[in-house]
Amino acid sequence: MKLTLWTYEGPPHVGAMRVATGMKGLHYVLHAPQGDTYADLLFTMIERRNHRPPVTFTTFQARDLGADTANLFKDSARDAYNRFQPQAMIVGASCTAELIQDDPGGLAEALGLPIPVIPLELPSYQRKENFGADETFFQIVKALAKPMPRTEAITCNILGATALGFRHRDDVAEVTKLLSLMGITVNVAAPMGATPEDIARMGQAHFNVLLYPETGETAARHLERACGQPYTKTVPIGVGATRDFLHEVSALTGISAKVDESGLRLPWWSASVDSTYLTGKRVYIFGDATHVMAAARIAATEIGFEVVGMGCFNREFARPLRAAAKAYGVEPLITDDYLEVEAEIARLQPELILGTQMERHIGKRLGIPCAVISAPVHVQDFPARYSPQMGFEGANVIFDTWIHPLVMGLEEHLLTMFREDFEFHDDAGASHHGGKAVARVEPEEPGVSHPRTPVGYLDQDEGASP
Ligand code: SF4
Repeated sequence: MKLTLWTYEGPPHVGAMRVATGMKGLHYVLHAPQGDTYADLLFTMIERRNHRPPVTFTTFQARDLGADTANLFKDSARDAYNRFQPQAMIVGASCTAELIQDDPGGLAEALGLPIPVIPLELPSYQRKENFGADETFFQIVKALAKPMPRTEAITCNILGATALGFRHRDDVAEVTKLLSLMGITVNVAAPMGATPEDIARMGQAHFNVLLYPETGETAARHLERACGQPYTKTVPIGVGATRDFLHEVSALTGISAKVDESGLRLPWWSASVDSTYLTGKRVYIFGDATHVMAAARIAATEIGFEVVGMGCFNREFARPLRAAAKAYGVEPLITDDYLEVEAEIARLQPELILGTQMERHIGKRLGIPCAVISAPVHVQDFPARYSPQMGFEGANVIFDTWIHPLVMGLEEHLLTMFREDFEFHDDAGASHHGGKAVARVEPEEPGVSHPRTPVGYLDQDEGASP
């Protein structure tokens, strides 16, 4: 047992739901107790989807346990097929259903449905959400994608984007744009946006672009073996990484990298004189390994921060993260316990935290500015506006997002200069953090009189007429 208040990742069947919900024409029959439908809210609220996830829950109750839960599963699967007529189906169990061992795969097979039915084995007590997504996508690809003749023109697949992925929607759009500039079209982007029929024709692409190793790497490796498709290893987050990515694509395809940097503003913004005060700011980075490694490179080489610590919650990627941390001379923290992350941040006292929703809370508690770079995220990080993290526009978005929470150069300068000021004193906080102005507490010195705070200035309610 482990005492847990916050978890960075959900159980693995939430990962499977992210794959199913991202896809079209696929249905997921999930053996699960009544109440597990709460996961629907992640998609309808946080991602604001306008449809229910394509998931049928068996929702068994206590009284069903004395009867036949296996039949309940079979009926649900049959009904789901009749009602939704999907091109393919995935079946599996949630944590509780795993304990009653009804074998959804075997039961669904016995139904003899006229579509591919893919069973999922997701060990809920050992693994988590990202593993669930990665494994589900791999099983779907393994079952449906077969070797095929290549398309005449050079095409690629984009792998790893899922429902509920941090900025996946706009990253796919941005990377598609980068590739099309080189004359490369996207054969299939999966799982997000793809149907099972699309998965079946993945084999005709010349190579694969792996955007999110956490949710697509096993499928990428499988396609490399089964269809002879190489896949890209650089994740194009940041200016340097995007350029490296384009070189990698160019080496894989023999097409020279055509690059349009006319919209790229990060390098000049960060070179301009107003960014001088960013130099050497101490930054702590935590999240999923892919986003953390990308963020560290941007922080150190493109903005000029000092990376004082980094870590990730997904131990599957501990090894590359350790190697990356070495380059910055920091000891990495691999943990899914937010209390350890909080203790580390408190110890290091950075001036900026780049993290997840949890680190935002930690930052708030410790009074340290924070920007979000990785899932888990809340509704505000599924924005209406175009906000990729990848490619050149992603770099622009990143620059603005990270700099915003820092006290702007002038404000910081003034704060230090006017330490003694009744308004801009040390504890006043930054204006954009929404703190109400607090008058400085005057030190008590006998015989010395201090100028009084102007009457009625700070104790007036905002908006109240004078
Ligand atoms: S089955 Fe798993 S996901 Fe569902 S309530 Fe129990 S622990 Fe949570």
